[in-house]
Amino acid sequence: MKVLLLNPPGRRVYIRDYLCSKTTKSNYLFHPIDLVVLSGTVAAEHDVRVLDCMAEALTVEAAEARIEAFAPEAIVSLVGAVSWPEDRAFLARQAARGRRIAALGDVLHEHSERRLAEEPWLELALHDFSNADVVRWLARDEGALEEATARRADGSIERVRRGTRKGAFRVPTPRHELFPRRGYRFSFARREPFATLLTDYGCPYPCTFCVIGTLGFKTRSVEDALAEVDHVRSLGIHELFFLDQTFGVVKQRALELCRGLALRRDLSWTAFTRPDTADDQLLAAMRGAGCHTVILGVESADDARLAAYRKGYDVAAVRDGFRRVKRHGLRTVGTFIVGLPEEDAGSLRRTLELAVELDLDFLSLNMAVPRFGTPFRRQAIELGLCGEDDLVMDQGGADAFLPTKHLGRAEMLALKKEMVRRFYLRPRYLLRRLSSAASPGELARQAREGLALLRRNV
Ligand code: SF4
Repeated sequence: MKVLLLNPPGRRVYIRDYLCSKTTKSNYLFHPIDLVVLSGTVAAEHDVRVLDCMAEALTVEAAEARIEAFAPEAIVSLVGAVSWPEDRAFLARQAARGRRIAALGDVLHEHSERRLAEEPWLELALHDFSNADVVRWLARDEGALEEATARRADGSIERVRRGTRKGAFRVPTPRHELFPRRGYRFSFARREPFATLLTDYGCPYPCTFCVIGTLGFKTRSVEDALAEVDHVRSLGIHELFFLDQTFGVVKQRALELCRGLALRRDLSWTAFTRPDTADDQLLAAMRGAGCHTVILGVESADDARLAAYRKGYDVAAVRDGFRRVKRHGLRTVGTFIVGLPEEDAGSLRRTLELAVELDLDFLSLNMAVPRFGTPFRRQAIELGLCGEDDLVMDQGGADAFLPTKHLGRAEMLALKKEMVRRFYLRPRYLLRRLSSAASPGELARQAREGLALLRRNV
């Protein structure tokens, strides 16, 4: 069967993946990991193509022409809360041409039966891209689905929950060669092109604002992960972005993976981890295996807030973690969530002071949004900060979706923009960026990203 894996076109640069859609905060755009993983699963049995309209910057008309040329029988598409009105209109037109449509994304994570009832063009909502539900649906074997919401032949709609939420999972090696060679952008990459990979699924931590913590936690074997790395290397790609949400959460497995990566001797890479997970042994292994940049969640400069949102560490642990990472010669990215209900001008000032004190190489501010299926969404609804039926939202920072108890949306957005400018426009910081680029190409990438970030924060 001809099957298209689709990242639909849109008016802006949307990042729709892993149940977290947003606009890009600057200019970055990495491979949508759901489609990367599904590419191996679908290609094992079908004639599969990938059309990433974000990477190729395709208009709606150009995207429709490309789809007509391939003439798929089925489309598996990303959708997002950030772009839902555009996505549903685009996909409804494809369904009207007789194509079967499956979709996955944050907007389908909660109340999915209702969403299918409202959207007659949608046959299937996938809730776990690490299993084989997509090929079961293509084979019309709905009875075997594990973790999906399906419209059956008799028109009834059912949410199936039989999937495993822990342990191991296997997927056929993702087909990275199906994705466009150009169009993806990642300012932390030290070389181009780069590939985006996933060696585990979900996250074992319970942070209440995060959807990934609601998915359970499963791992791929190190052998499978290294086979994918070798496939990527065979395509001439040696720069990697591991999208695992906490690299090293199963420490022995991470050390084994690092040993395998180090043996290849030709890799450089970026990964997410947590300040309390990144101990000296792990960091030394990561550095030895080619890691150059780690992205660490900080979230807040207030211990009470870290406890309330169940981060599982305090600010002292954050400081220790960043000190260790720097000792190992790795670049640091600190991610913070701003605009939680307790946020006021004072807490934003403390956040900026902590970001400066940690001497971050890069600062990433995420606007609090009530992600579907999270405890934080329930809290925001109870506080009257958002409505049960609010579907369209963006954490990218182009807008403030939520007011806080103390700040209106416009004020919150203005303060967040000021924080970005005050962090990035420090002369000492700019000098360090200029002097630390390893190549003219890296300098150009960072300059592009920096300018795009500042344009969005004036
Ligand atoms: S550790 Fe990170 S990925 Fe895991 S639940 Fe917390 S915020 Fe989400």
